[in-house]
Amino acid sequence: MKLSHRITHITGGGSDGWDVFYKARRMIADGVPVTELTIGEHDIRTSPDILGAMHAAAVGGHTGYAMVPGTHDLRKTVAARIASRTGVPTTADNILITPGGQAALFAAHTAVCDPGDTAVYIDPYYATYPGTIRGSSAVPKALITTPDTAFQPTCKALIETTAGATSLLVNTPNNPTGVVYSAQTLQAICDACITNDLWLISDEVYDTQVWDGTHISPRSLPGMAERTLVVGSMSKSHAMTGSRVGWICGPEGAIDQLINLATHTTYGVPGFIQDAADFALNQGDAVEEAVAAPFRRRRMLTMQALEGQNLVRAVPAQGAMYVMLDMRATGMSGEGFANALLDAEQIAVMPGESFGQAAAGHVRVAMTIADDKYVDALSRLIAFASAKASQTSD
Ligand code: PLP
Repeated sequence: MKLSHRITHITGGGSDGWDVFYKARRMIADGVPVTELTIGEHDIRTSPDILGAMHAAAVGGHTGYAMVPGTHDLRKTVAARIASRTGVPTTADNILITPGGQAALFAAHTAVCDPGDTAVYIDPYYATYPGTIRGSSAVPKALITTPDTAFQPTCKALIETTAGATSLLVNTPNNPTGVVYSAQTLQAICDACITNDLWLISDEVYDTQVWDGTHISPRSLPGMAERTLVVGSMSKSHAMTGSRVGWICGPEGAIDQLINLATHTTYGVPGFIQDAADFALNQGDAVEEAVAAPFRRRRMLTMQALEGQNLVRAVPAQGAMYVMLDMRATGMSGEGFANALLDAEQIAVMPGESFGQAAAGHVRVAMTIADDKYVDALSRLIAFASAKASQTSD
């Protein structure tokens, strides 16, 4: 039987730079001790306190259908958190609780794009972006950034690429680059949205992981609250990736329609998960800082490991759990380097090419293993790069 074009074309064909990842997974399954620096998953698990709250809620009976928009308590807590961090008046009516940020990204595009509408995203990008847009029946269009601007989109590129589009998707702090957008970049994003009459979909799932500068939510800039859907998640801030709980924050009218979409798709998020999320958010900033602390520390360790050589350079890592390394001086592609590193040193990193064409010649390192093992892996990566560079120049 024929399946829809929409579902069979969510991902493009051919090699997309994920071969290295799958090869590493096969090696691990075969018992090879691979040092895994690929996926954005903490090396700690969800805290026992949060699991305790989840257990108490489940045993207490919160296991039936939950309210589709989210429980009133969690919606209120998320709204208060956003209002206090951004200064934008926000109530429970501005919030839809979703099964994670990924579902929120899909719902947000479905809410604002009609089939065939152009939805712009920024390359390098989080791997699911183009497929999420295609899945919502819109047409993805990449705005290609360059390493010279630390992968931040320029004013000119924003205006030109988004002309005629319906939406623009941005992500700061950024996966895969670790870059936090500057105030100027955010202003240019807002100017493009207003000039070209776009919806802004602002993926802020790493908002608690900022090492340098501050996170500014573009919804807080003048004229933006009525045209912005913010995507948030408990995955990264509270090490709750498996709980699948996140949200969309936006204008009430859009949230009303998104609730209707949720009624016909997810039918909400389990009540005991929402109670645990509400408990977690009410523990305050210290808990979020503790979850972020290992990445803050390892980002410093990365800078130290790279000192004293200039073959492997880091893109300024200001946030999120990744560091993007520029390998172009080795003369190898990101994919070539990542493959060779996996074969020779059993260290798995993601080729920049997995995240679009802008990050070609780079590799993304997830800072997600214990400090001593992490430092050891980096020093082996640098030594391997310099051996490869001298072979290429021989
Ligand atoms: N957005 C970005 C940039 C991500 O890196 C991720 C996950 O890695 C997500 C969204 C989805 O997160 P989740 O669905 O776990 O909330």
